[in-house]
Amino acid sequence: MAGRIRDDDIAEVREKARIDDVVSQYVTLKRAGGGSLKGLCPFHDEKTPSFNVNPARQFFHCFGCQEGGDVIAFIMKVDGLTFTEAVERLGEKYGVTLRREDGDDEPARPRGPARGRLIEAHKVAQAFYAEQLASADAVVARQFLHQRGFDQAAAELFGVGFAPRDGEALTRHLRGRRFTDEESVAAGLVAHGRSHYDRFRGRLVWPIREANGDTIGFGARRIFDDDRIEAKYLNTSETAIYKKSQVLYGIDLARTAMKDAQQAVVVEGYTDVMACHLAGVRTAVASCGTAFGTDHARVLRRFLGDHGATSGEVIFTFDGDSAGQKAAMKVLESDQVFASQTYVAVAPEGMDPCDLRIKEGDEAVRELVAKRQPLYRFALDNILARHDLDRADGRVDALRDAAGLVASIRDKTKVESFSRELAHMVGVDLDEVRTEVRRAASRPAPSPADERRTTRHEVPAAPEPPRQVLPSLSDPRFLIERELLKLVIQHPSGVGRTTAHVTTTDFTHPTFQGVWEAVTAADGPAAGADDPGWANKVREAATEPAVVAAITELGVEPVRGTSDPNPTFAVAYVYRLQELTTSRRIADVKARLQRTNPVDNALDYNRMFGELVMLEQHRRKLREGAVGPGATA
Ligand code: ZN
Repeated sequence: MAGRIRDDDIAEVREKARIDDVVSQYVTLKRAGGGSLKGLCPFHDEKTPSFNVNPARQFFHCFGCQEGGDVIAFIMKVDGLTFTEAVERLGEKYGVTLRREDGDDEPARPRGPARGRLIEAHKVAQAFYAEQLASADAVVARQFLHQRGFDQAAAELFGVGFAPRDGEALTRHLRGRRFTDEESVAAGLVAHGRSHYDRFRGRLVWPIREANGDTIGFGARRIFDDDRIEAKYLNTSETAIYKKSQVLYGIDLARTAMKDAQQAVVVEGYTDVMACHLAGVRTAVASCGTAFGTDHARVLRRFLGDHGATSGEVIFTFDGDSAGQKAAMKVLESDQVFASQTYVAVAPEGMDPCDLRIKEGDEAVRELVAKRQPLYRFALDNILARHDLDRADGRVDALRDAAGLVASIRDKTKVESFSRELAHMVGVDLDEVRTEVRRAASRPAPSPADERRTTRHEVPAAPEPPRQVLPSLSDPRFLIERELLKLVIQHPSGVGRTTAHVTTTDFTHPTFQGVWEAVTAADGPAAGADDPGWANKVREAATEPAVVAAITELGVEPVRGTSDPNPTFAVAYVYRLQELTTSRRIADVKARLQRTNPVDNALDYNRMFGELVMLEQHRRKLREGAVGPGATA
C-alpha cells in the first residue's frame, strides 16, 4: 500500500468537504440560531435534536452523547471507516487528489477488505448488471418490467439490471476489474462453495443504495421457472456495509422529498417504490427482505428530522387482505418510536401501489396516499370488525379487545381521545370504556425482553372460538326463564295462553331456548292443560341430551312463591321475561345509534331513534303491567 497521505492534502479535504454538506447527507438539519444547525443524532437514539453542526468552525457536537469532531471524524464514525479511508472517500467525492509520502503508514485494518473496496465492487457490479439488462438473455427480465409499467427510462433511473444465468459472469467480471475473490465474497456479490460463483443468477436485480447514492447491496427477483432457488426474492446477506435492519430501498431518491414534504411513505416492495416515485409520490421507501422495524424507523426519523410536535407523517401502505392487516398491526409496535404521526393507506381489492398504477394510473397512486387514515383508527376498525356489535356480548368482547390497544398507547395525552372514539365506535358509554381501559392497563405486560420484537396487538389468525362452557342453568341471570319454564312444564293449565307471544328469542340460555322449542313442538302449554302426559310429550319433542335433562329437572323442582299457580301468577313472569327482552333490544338500538352519524345517515338515525322511543314506551308499559303480554313492539 502507499504511504501516509500528505498533511496539506488532508487539510484540503477538510476545507472542501464542508461539514454541513457532508452531515446533511445523513441527517436532516435545521437552522438553530447563531449560525449553527441542529438535527437528530445519528449516533444515539433521541427524539429531540441535540446534535449540533457548526459550519463556521467546521465541527459537530452532540450534547446528548458527547460525540464530536471534524468532518473526517464524522465520516469515520458514521460509516465505520479508518482515518485513511475516510479521507480517501471525502477526497474522491470533493475532488481532492491525495498524494502519499513514505513513512509511518496507518496500521492495517484488522479484518476483511476495506469498506471503500466493497462500495467500489458494488459500483462495478451495478454497472455490469445494468448493461446485461440489454442482452438477449434478459428478454424475460425486460418483459417483467414492461408488464409492470416500467420503461427503459424507469429502469435506468432505478439502476435495475439483470444477473446472467451463466453463474460465474460477475465473478469473472470482478476479477477482470482487479477485485480479489476475497473482496467479492466479503461484498456479498460472490458466493464460495467448492469454487466461486455469482450470488445472483438469472434474476432481475435492483441496486439497494445508501442515502448518499452508494450501492451497498442488491435485491433479486426470481423470473425463470427453472430457477433452482424457490424464493421469489433474494437479498444481499449481511455484510460489513449492508445491514438489512437499517436499509431502506429508495432512500437515496426519497430523502430530499421526505424532508421537504415532511412525509415518508413505506411500501412493501421494489416495484412499489418505483411505481410510487414515477407516480409522483417521491417519498416512498421499502425495507428489503425483512419487515419494517425499529431500526428502520430510526433511519426515517433522522431524514424526516422528527422534531417533536412539529414532526411529519409516516404512511404505511398495505393491501387490504388479512396479511396486510396483520402487517399494519405489527407496525403499531414500531409506531411507538415515531414522534411523527403514523398513518395507513389501504389500497382497494388487495392491490399494491404497483398494481394500482398499472390498472388505474398515477393519479390513483397519489390518491391512495392522500386517503391515508390514522394507524390507530385502522387498528380499532380491525378489532371491531371481528365482533358483532349488534349483540350485547359482541360489544363486551369488542370493548375488551380494543381497550387493550388503547391502554397500550404510550402517549397518554391521546388515551382520552381514543377512548371517546372507541365509545362512539362500539356504541357504549365513555365511562364503560374508561373502566375497561384501566382494567387493560393493569393486566400484566409482556416481559421487557420480548416487548420490542413481539407484537402486543397481533391479530389472531382466526376469530376466537365461541365459549365452550355454558353458564349454569341455575345462574340468577336465568331465574325468570327458569321459573317460567317450570310453570309451563309443571302447571300448563295455570299458564294457559299467557305465553302465546313468547318466542325462543325471549330466552338467553341456549338450553332454555331448546326447552322452549320443545314446548312449542308439543303445541304449547294450552295444549297441555288437560294432558297428564304433557311433561313427557315435551321431553319427547327434545333431541339434545342437555335439553332432555333440563326438562326432567324443571319438571320436579318446586316452583317459587306458590303451590297453586294461576294465569295471573304466570303472567307476571311473562311480563318480566319480555321486559328483559325489550331491554336487550333497547341496548342494541342505542349502541347502533351511537355508532351512526346523524348528519351522514339522517334517515337511518331517525328511524332508529323512533324505534328506540317505541321500545322505551313498551318497556314502561310492561313494567306497569299495563299491556297484554303479547304486545311486543
Ligand atoms: Zn448523540
